[in-house]
Amino acid sequence: MSHAIVKRKQLETRICNHHRIYCSAFIILLIGIILKVLPLHNCFTLLMLSRSCSRILSLNLSKQFYRTMNSTGKWNPSLTSEQLRVLRDKGTERPNTGNYLHNKQTGIYSCANCDLPIYKSETKFDSGCGWPAFYDAIPGSLTFTRDESFGMVRIEICCSRCGGHMGHVFEGEGWQKILNLPTDQRHCVNSCSLNFKEG
Ligand SMILES: [Zn+2]
Repeated sequence: MSHAIVKRKQLETRICNHHRIYCSAFIILLIGIILKVLPLHNCFTLLMLSRSCSRILSLNLSKQFYRTMNSTGKWNPSLTSEQLRVLRDKGTERPNTGNYLHNKQTGIYSCANCDLPIYKSETKFDSGCGWPAFYDAIPGSLTFTRDESFGMVRIEICCSRCGGHMGHVFEGEGWQKILNLPTDQRHCVNSCSLNFKEG
């Protein structure tokens, strides 16, 4: 079991234990009132006090719980298994299958996991390679890493905010001259790593 899951379980247990303590205190005070062991007004004050403490502690524990969830479960729950395979596990979608391969609409392509804007539609071009191609990204939106998998040396591109795998970037293929582009880069990107918004 990973450290994150253990930590989450501990927090869940702490929250449950806290509610158990609060319920026990409530029952003891109730018995006190019924048996007239404790004066009624003191019991009422104690009850209100324990209720306030419970709320404050419970809220803090819940906040901590959800903070832990967010920091560990960084993958958007709305992602499909194919998107997870590509974004998280650095997979590649099958060529000529992506939703945005032939998309010619004007707008912004954002990371499908964290919604960070990555590409402007005006930087998209048709390379015929089977995946959407862009000659440049929005500054600061990507991280570049040398990737030596499958016996090739490639530059992997990932979302700079969440680390989601986008694809690879190739340089010097001649697209700049062929299509008169501002750079000679081809960002070869998986459609399922992106979300497109018109505008
Ligand atoms: Zn992202």
